[in-house]
Amino acid sequence: MPYFKKSPWIIHYDGSSCNGCDIEVLACLTPVYDVERLGIINTGNPKHADIFLVTGSINEQNREVVQNIYEQMPDPKVVVAIGICATSGGIFAECYNVMGGVNKVLPVDVYVPGCAARPEAIIDGISAAIKILDEKRKRTKEIQSGKVPLLIEPAVLSDAPQILDLQRLAYQSEAELYNDFTLSPLRQTLEELQKDFESNLFLKAIMDGKIIGAVRAYEAKGTCFIDRLVVHPQYQNFGVGSKLINEIELRFPVCRRFESFSGHKSKRNIDFYTRHGYKKFKSEKVSEKRDRIYLEKNKTEEKQ
Ligand code: SF4
Repeated sequence: MPYFKKSPWIIHYDGSSCNGCDIEVLACLTPVYDVERLGIINTGNPKHADIFLVTGSINEQNREVVQNIYEQMPDPKVVVAIGICATSGGIFAECYNVMGGVNKVLPVDVYVPGCAARPEAIIDGISAAIKILDEKRKRTKEIQSGKVPLLIEPAVLSDAPQILDLQRLAYQSEAELYNDFTLSPLRQTLEELQKDFESNLFLKAIMDGKIIGAVRAYEAKGTCFIDRLVVHPQYQNFGVGSKLINEIELRFPVCRRFESFSGHKSKRNIDFYTRHGYKKFKSEKVSEKRDRIYLEKNKTEEKQ
């Protein structure tokens, strides 16, 4: 186990497990395995937790709860899927009411397979999570201190292939969330994206010498319409999205109103916009599987 300065606090949520894996998680806390001797504490408050242990598969009822807990945890954070159900859905994967493993709704850092996962394997998984947490903390500090420069600048036409690759990668989780791989960002062709350059301002986020984020926007009747804000999955939770949205808003100084949209299940996106001052103002059914939630920010309201 790596040396760490702060005791890692875990929070455990039982998605839809048969209780087998939960019992094993609890066994880790009993005197036999006693993870507290390693400084690991189980907390019931997501705001105090660093490591999120999930048992059981994801379904329509627990999806929002899992996302809610994750969103309330401070960054950086690590997710551990415990047991084969949380890893992939396991034997329940094909059930009508099972969406799959935790990675359907959250970025999973450590997988602990097994049915049930043994306490030794769970402790091993937590140990791996601590190492990842430590790396994430270092990385966050480097980014926040400016040691790893993050550059936000207008993209040019020759960036289109990289932006398209990033867009397709970033929208995979959305497609899985709705079980709909026909989403327009996934179907967009290079020619279509290049054409968007004629009517949109594209911004790109560059880190480690590559494009890790992008957003586009255009102005119409005093409103700035923001679309397809994407961040590479490996660079999420480092504030890249915030920098992109703040910068794109600044690039449209004449606009008093900003508008964007998100799918109704995309809680992370909706929370992101809400944190940046956006409010829901309408919704619209765009397909059998998806409603579109429209969000707006009014600069005049902001000043009051
Ligand atoms: S992996 Fe096995 S023991 Fe764990 S929740 Fe699923 S069915 Fe139960």
